[in-house]
Amino acid sequence: MEKVNLTGFTQEELEQFAVDHGEKSFRGRQLFSWIYQRKATDFAEMTDLSKALRNKFQDLATIGQLQIAEKSPSPASDSIKYLFRLHDGNLIESVFISERNRRTLCVSSQVGCALKCTFCATGKLGFKRNLTAGEIVDQVICVERDTGLELTNIVFMGMGEPFQNYENVIQSAYLMKHENGIAIGARHIVISTVGIIPALYRYADEGHRFKLAISLHSPFNDDRQKLIPVSAKYDVDKLVDAVKYYMKKSRHRPTFQYVLIDGVNDRMRDAHGVRKLLQGIPCKVNLIPYNPTVPAFKRPSREHVDQFARWLMPIHAPISVRWSKGDDIEAACGQLAGKFVKAPEMV
Ligand code: SAH
Repeated sequence: MEKVNLTGFTQEELEQFAVDHGEKSFRGRQLFSWIYQRKATDFAEMTDLSKALRNKFQDLATIGQLQIAEKSPSPASDSIKYLFRLHDGNLIESVFISERNRRTLCVSSQVGCALKCTFCATGKLGFKRNLTAGEIVDQVICVERDTGLELTNIVFMGMGEPFQNYENVIQSAYLMKHENGIAIGARHIVISTVGIIPALYRYADEGHRFKLAISLHSPFNDDRQKLIPVSAKYDVDKLVDAVKYYMKKSRHRPTFQYVLIDGVNDRMRDAHGVRKLLQGIPCKVNLIPYNPTVPAFKRPSREHVDQFARWLMPIHAPISVRWSKGDDIEAACGQLAGKFVKAPEMV
């Protein structure tokens, strides 16, 4: 019989697992706390279970564990890029970023990505498969175990499009939030999406409390499609309607992310377009100066980034600029591409 991997199970599912094997349901709650809070790697560590029960679980099940294939600490910033090997040999990356009293993990939601955004390194890999909820939450568990630190924030900004792996992403986010486990508040977990419109409506209707970040990158449909090919299906005005619907339901302000690429989407007319599009919407705008991964695209100068922010200014939304950490170890936004496939244009 193949053993079941319990990492990724909810508390209720673990209770059911215990009951299914003739144990009391509170045994499931003990397993939950050992896996997510105490980050056990082995049933043998579970000292509040009898030896016989530990052996029984050992015969039936396994606990997570991604393998750390490689670890690159950044000398220039307090960040570490992890390359994890999955049970089937696929590789994914996560980035740990420490700044002041925040410890953030940028997690992957898929092996590769299907969206093929023209400026993004992950997009060049193509799509391999969705991660399970267990593989997503295990990135958090492994990094907390490896660093010995508790994370304070999670961003779904690693490899993949979270809203194309909707159920597993939501389940993993609840596992990160659960108070008997990892216990990171919903407002400290950010799901980043290019704006898959049906998924946005679903997210709004289901009433989840995790923060949303929408990758906008251009206010104009034709330019946006060149950067994010999948947006051909999602008109930018309809995207804004979906975001407004989400805001009405959740009473939360989303963040619009905007990667600034020299001469491509950083002109005055782009800034004016963004202002017009987002006028009157209570949101935040996060500008990300492009981290070069594709030779055709360049990062604008620091002065120009400031200029673009000034052009946006009358928008009445807080504007921030994200100068990525960890670019010296290729761990900055959009630089995650694993080591396993090098697309021809990247080598
Ligand atoms: N698929 C999700 C998560 C991707 S990564 C999304 O698109 O939102 C998170 C952010 O990094 C996205 O806004 C993405 O557009 C941005 N990004 C991708 N490549 C980048 C690069 N080379 N430089 C700067 N930001 C990049």
